[in-house]
Amino acid sequence: MIKGIFPTEKFEAFETPFYYYDITLLRETLDTIRQETAGKPFHIHYAIKANANPEILRLIASYGFGADCVSGNEILRALACGFPASKIAFAGVGKTDREIRIGLENDIFCFNVESMAELEVLNGLAAAQGKKAPVALRINPNVDAHTHHYITTGLNENKFGINEDDLPAILRMIAEGQQINLIGIHFHIGSQITDLSSFEDLCVKVLELREWFHRQGITLPVINVGGGLGINYQHPNHCPIADFESYFRLFDKYLKLEEDQTLHFELGRSMVAPCGSLITRVVYVKEGMQKKFLIVDAGMTELIRPALYQAFHHIENISSEEPYTPYDVVGPICESSDVFARDFPLNESKRGDLIAIRSAGAYGETMASTYNCRAIPASLFSDKL
Ligand SMILES: *Cc1c(COP(=O)(O)O)cnc(C)c1O
Repeated sequence: MIKGIFPTEKFEAFETPFYYYDITLLRETLDTIRQETAGKPFHIHYAIKANANPEILRLIASYGFGADCVSGNEILRALACGFPASKIAFAGVGKTDREIRIGLENDIFCFNVESMAELEVLNGLAAAQGKKAPVALRINPNVDAHTHHYITTGLNENKFGINEDDLPAILRMIAEGQQINLIGIHFHIGSQITDLSSFEDLCVKVLELREWFHRQGITLPVINVGGGLGINYQHPNHCPIADFESYFRLFDKYLKLEEDQTLHFELGRSMVAPCGSLITRVVYVKEGMQKKFLIVDAGMTELIRPALYQAFHHIENISSEEPYTPYDVVGPICESSDVFARDFPLNESKRGDLIAIRSAGAYGETMASTYNCRAIPASLFSDKL
């Protein structure tokens, strides 16, 4: 089995658990995205919720990418870390008045509006500031993302987005309200999508909807297809970078843009997941009746994805070269779901060994909690060790 390359000796100086970010890999990923979108009217808005660490944000902003935010505080964090307001999209089903005002005051690129009720409030708050709010309507394309049901968002009767049937009423409201500048349509069908045909289905739907808007006499300068590109959690060493080439080629092929139309992407996971690992230490090896448990000092409080979505993360013992043997890798939290993996082959392990839980760069640190009065761990960066 190939293992990742980690500076295990340097790690010994730090208290575990901690997040470790491979900045070389992150840069390679960002370079790849830049190459695959060069010369096309494609715009990337990094989905901050995947990883909002200021170091990571500053690096992504330095590449000229925009940001996709799902809260007012994410907008403030994005601005503080160097993303220009003119490249910030703001999504979310429950935008509060305060959050909408933050967006309006900063003249962000676009509000991705998810309901009629939100549109009405946005219209009123924009009027109070004497502004027109730039809006893309988040529409449910009713496309199945073929992913875990907790991270499928594009089906009808979902808390996210507007159903097609409501579009005529929405357009009437926009015409009457006067403070809304309809600039585009927005979609986000789910996350960790590895079957790219879901995106083909999305393109077909987008073209249909664009036609429908044309028939209402509306041209849309902005088409935003959201995020959702998956990564290979099984083989982080063989496939450290998501298949951006196929992904962008697909949109180029199936979604022919009109003149002056731009295509926007909100990639989160695929940009930052592979570069991050959760580094944890073996506290105890417990011999069960038939199993061996590796009890480590990180738990669902530092990486909740396995407990929340039954997600798989590749795991390596980065202190041992002994033969492989299966372990249940579990955390110290008082919950039965606090399990990182079952029967996972690891080099034979002992108390004190360092364990790397891979592909933890997205939805790891941002979802950390203080349950059991635990501390939020530190972050280490490969270029600063
Ligand atoms: C979470 C989210 C994204 C990013 O999704 P990934 O699967 O991490 O790429 C993009 N857009 C919206 C609206 C989101 O909620």
